[in-house]
Amino acid sequence: MDVELYKYDIYPKVFPVNCETEITIRMFGDNKNYTGEKDGFSQSGYYIVMLCHVDSGNDVSKYEKFRTTAGEDGMLRVLYTAKAEGEHYVCIEHYDERETRTYVVMLSVYALEEDLACRIPLRGDFHIHTSRSDGGEVPGLVCANYRKAGYDFIVITDHHRYYPSLEAIAAYKDTDAALHIIPGEEVHLPNTMVHIVNAGGSYSVNGLMKGSHQYKTCGDDLTRCSSDGRSPAAITREEYDRQIEEIMESGRCDGCPEADRQSYAVCLWAFDHIKAGGGLAILAHPLWRCNLYNLSIPYTKFMLKEHPFDALEVLGGAAQPHQYYGTNGLQSALYYEEWLEGRIHPIVGSTDSHDSTEHNRNKTVASTIVFAHENHYGDIFASVKERYSVAVDTFSGDFRLVGPFRLQKYANFLLYHWYPIHDRLTAMDGEIMREYYFGEAEAEELACMKKKSDAMFKKYFKTI
Ligand SMILES: [Zn+2]
Ligand SMILES: [Zn+2]
Repeated sequence: MDVELYKYDIYPKVFPVNCETEITIRMFGDNKNYTGEKDGFSQSGYYIVMLCHVDSGNDVSKYEKFRTTAGEDGMLRVLYTAKAEGEHYVCIEHYDERETRTYVVMLSVYALEEDLACRIPLRGDFHIHTSRSDGGEVPGLVCANYRKAGYDFIVITDHHRYYPSLEAIAAYKDTDAALHIIPGEEVHLPNTMVHIVNAGGSYSVNGLMKGSHQYKTCGDDLTRCSSDGRSPAAITREEYDRQIEEIMESGRCDGCPEADRQSYAVCLWAFDHIKAGGGLAILAHPLWRCNLYNLSIPYTKFMLKEHPFDALEVLGGAAQPHQYYGTNGLQSALYYEEWLEGRIHPIVGSTDSHDSTEHNRNKTVASTIVFAHENHYGDIFASVKERYSVAVDTFSGDFRLVGPFRLQKYANFLLYHWYPIHDRLTAMDGEIMREYYFGEAEAEELACMKKKSDAMFKKYFKTI
């Protein structure tokens, strides 16, 4: 976190361009400039607040200056209209009665063009395992742990199983918790090694196969294989093979490397179902290495060229540490190479975590920041598809981003100036979720945290 944010508050941090905005700056007591007489800026003398668009280059003559005095509440306020998108430095100087100048602090705000100014940043994860498959904790606790780690939404995606995600949602169904929990599953089907994430689809794709773990455990119980009580009927292996054969003969697999034609037909079958259920079909970790790449390079390139999925998991935290770059660095390189060819893939970054506690070094190593209108899966998926997302990698301790330059620039600002504040609240909220899960906190406490979270977004983001 920007060290000055321990001593000062500034809001809104984000606002639209060409829109007069009142920027408020508060000095906290824990501060060398704090006089100890009254909380806040000095009541004597005056302040010069200078704002400058960081993109405009290193030229102090470009600062716009505002003369102001501290309000009775000890705060400074300036009315500012940003003319261009980007970070703006807010430099504050104090002048006493003898016109002696003292540098006070440099803070930052960010102005946005209309298409981003109507959105809020939401940190989420599209690929998470629980102890219902090979993860470490039960679904309800995984949710609490992710909230603690700063996530606004998560998709629970156990191997072969959809019902754990419904269990996670059910654990908090009587609350107005701020964390948005979305149903999902990691889809594994016969005749393909490709891992596919069904994020938010209304029914289980694994469950359509009569031999799957989902089907063996839950059968066609619609309350456990569907989020809305509807699902196509499960089919036998013979019927499945017939449907895959039909896709292979349809011409949709033309151009696919010969060895992967059947696998590709299976993927098309799965992607079609995920989309039919209103979900986001994610191609998971194509270059994840279990000795060999999960998909061959020619097959990966064909898959990207055809793009039958909705989003590419460009970062995945399940990569083994010694092969982390070999998976995620190379997937990122492919993403940019694809861009050169004119194909700009919607992207997500996911932890693919199998343990959500601090004992897993990679528990929150990756995430996605989605710029969406609201924290609801329909809008989140639409925003990803419209390419309003960046993937965040924190493997090295510092962060790295994948995505378009414009969004990286904004996300970079947010990671220094917004998320440290956001994460203080989510840490508390996650702990209360954990207590609630064990029956030691009330639903009202979570509702209260949701109100706080909503108020915080409102304070720091002036949206249109
Ligand atoms: Zn996988
Ligand atoms: Zn996985």
